[in-house]
Amino acid sequence: MSLIHLFRRCNQRCVFCSWPEEGGRGPEADLRGWLKEIAAMPAGLVQLSGGEPLLAGAYNLCLLLGAVRRLGRPVELQTNALAAADMPQADLIKLAGALNAAGGYFNVNFPAASPALDYKITRARGGFKKRLAGVRRLMRAGAKVRLTHVISLLNYKALPAFAALAAGSLKGAAWIQFSYIKGAGRAEDGTFIPEYLKVQPYLEKALAACARAGIHCEVDHVPPCRLGEFWRLNVDIEKMRKGLKGPHLLEKKRVRACRGCRFFKVCPGPRKDYIAVHKTL
Ligand code: SF4
Repeated sequence: MSLIHLFRRCNQRCVFCSWPEEGGRGPEADLRGWLKEIAAMPAGLVQLSGGEPLLAGAYNLCLLLGAVRRLGRPVELQTNALAAADMPQADLIKLAGALNAAGGYFNVNFPAASPALDYKITRARGGFKKRLAGVRRLMRAGAKVRLTHVISLLNYKALPAFAALAAGSLKGAAWIQFSYIKGAGRAEDGTFIPEYLKVQPYLEKALAACARAGIHCEVDHVPPCRLGEFWRLNVDIEKMRKGLKGPHLLEKKRVRACRGCRFFKVCPGPRKDYIAVHKTL
C-alpha cells in the first residue's frame, strides 16, 4: 500500500487534517512528478490523497488513473466529495469509468451526520449538503464508493446517527470504515482523541445498526478489546494473521494492560499517539 499526496490544496479546513495546507500548496497538477513517485513505490494499492484530489480536475485525474492502470496497480481515490457536487456529470462518469477500469474506488471522508457538526469539523460552509450531493452523484455515475467516518471527540456521540444516515440517504455505498482519529497534523496535540471506553457504547450501537441494515463495515485504530462483539471488524487482525508489515506495526504498540489478552497475537496494540494522551487503554 502506497500513499501519495497530490498537493495540499483543499476546499475544507478540517480541525484534524493530517496534511494541512499551511505547509505550502504545492503544484496545481504535476502528472509527470506523480507518476515518477508512484512508479518508485512498493507494489500494491495506490492511495491518491491530497489536499483534495478532485481539485486536480477530471481531465488530469483520468490521465493519472489511466497511467496507474497500465502499471497494474489498484487505486483508492480519497476525497471529501464537495467538488463532485458541482462537476459536470459527464466528467464524473469519465472519472468513475477510469477508476473502475483501474480496479479502484472513491474513499469519501464523511465526518458527520448533520450540517452543524459537519461545519464544526470541516469549517466548510454548506459542506454537509454538498458532500451528500457529491456522494450521490458519484454513485449515480457508476463509481464504487467507500465511506470513511473519522471518530473524534467532536462526533463520537453521533455515531448511531451516522449509521442511520448511511442506511438512508447514503444507501448504496460499498462499505464503511470507522477510523479513529490520529494525533497528527492539526490534531497533533491529541486534543480530539477521545477515550476508547467512552466511545465504545456509541460505536457498538452504530455497528449494530449497520449490521441490521446489511451495510458492510470495518474499524481501524480501535483495538479488538474495545469493540465488544464486533471485534472481528478490526482491520489489523487479518494483517497480523498473515504476518504483513506496514504502518499498523509502526503506529501501534502493546502496553502493560495487553498482558494476557486473548487478542494478543492478532493485535499490534493501541496507537502510540492514543497512549501518549490517555496513558493506558
Ligand atoms: S493486545 Fe492490547 S490493545 Fe490489543 S486487543 Fe489486546 S488488550 Fe487490546
